[in-house]
Amino acid sequence: MRPLQKTLDSAALRHNWHTIRARATAKNIFAVVKSRAYGHGLPFVAETLRGLADGFAVVEMADARALRALCIDKPILLMSGPFSTEEVAELASLRLWTAVCNVQQMQWVSALPASADINVFVKVDIGMNRLGIAVDEAKMVLDAITCAPAVKHTALMAHFANADEPAGLQVPLDRLQELRQQVTMLSLGNSAATLLHGDIGDDWARVGIALYGSSPAPTWCHRDSLGLRSVMTLKTKLISIRLVCVGDSVGYGRTWCAAQDTRVGVAACGYGDGYPRAQGLQVAVNGQLVPVLGRVSMELIIIDLTNLPDAAVGDEVVCWGKTPSIDEVATAAGRVSYELFTAAGRG
Ligand SMILES: *Cc1c(COP(=O)(O)O)cnc(C)c1O
Repeated sequence: MRPLQKTLDSAALRHNWHTIRARATAKNIFAVVKSRAYGHGLPFVAETLRGLADGFAVVEMADARALRALCIDKPILLMSGPFSTEEVAELASLRLWTAVCNVQQMQWVSALPASADINVFVKVDIGMNRLGIAVDEAKMVLDAITCAPAVKHTALMAHFANADEPAGLQVPLDRLQELRQQVTMLSLGNSAATLLHGDIGDDWARVGIALYGSSPAPTWCHRDSLGLRSVMTLKTKLISIRLVCVGDSVGYGRTWCAAQDTRVGVAACGYGDGYPRAQGLQVAVNGQLVPVLGRVSMELIIIDLTNLPDAAVGDEVVCWGKTPSIDEVATAAGRVSYELFTAAGRG
């Protein structure tokens, strides 16, 4: 077996929860656990946060089922709403809260019997042009949902397109101004809106990436200044060491060529493991940052050991974790932490 390991730190996840809770002005916070809890594994995150999170937010019905099977009895929000009539029936049996993102879902939810007794989050589009009801139609949908027999509380839900920019909330919040009067519950903020902006009046923030120890806007605010710690560490070992002579190259495409005789190590991690296939990356060997050389292969990387003369086969190589952070790796690769986490979580 290759010595690649993905370790998960439950203390760091709890720490991040408390840090976010202390900073956020939102009354309640959903832990967003879509896409296998951003690659961290739904059972791990659910178990760790079961006594802390006010609720959990998912996209797949299967995840809602899995949470109930783990005896999570907190509110669970289905953030994109049901995808079929079969799923509509499960809203009541699993005691879910659901988003309503379009007229079809509005009709489904309106037809549920009073016994279903659910909370509905009417999702309004405020600039993404992705899911959600147009602002002009939203009053009609809010009215219909509020009057539906099965609906206990109606919330106004929206998702910001650029909460990771200092001025990113102004225009979308203006668009919601009138609709806010119509509801008693608001669910607007993601990690960036919740942690980097002032009070937006949220009753239910939806926080994902920050829980996992990544800054929602790495170029604006470093994860260390937010007090967040990495939950996932992707680490492996040196499995081979060799001397590359001046003029020789390493890896596919021979993109890196030795300007002098260079000691290089090979570590068991590659793009097949979710590590980005990019240039300019660094890993930590025995805690010290060193460059990755040439192209990343499917299950291997080549590392410059010039500054680590004592490094030996079997030594630890951290691809991301405390250092380098996921944000540093993602930024160097021109990617975002969300992609790297979810890619690593597929394995
Ligand atoms: C994924 C998601 C979130 C969480 O976003 P983060 O940036 O990870 O905090 C919030 N709301 C919706 C609708 C989402 O899809």
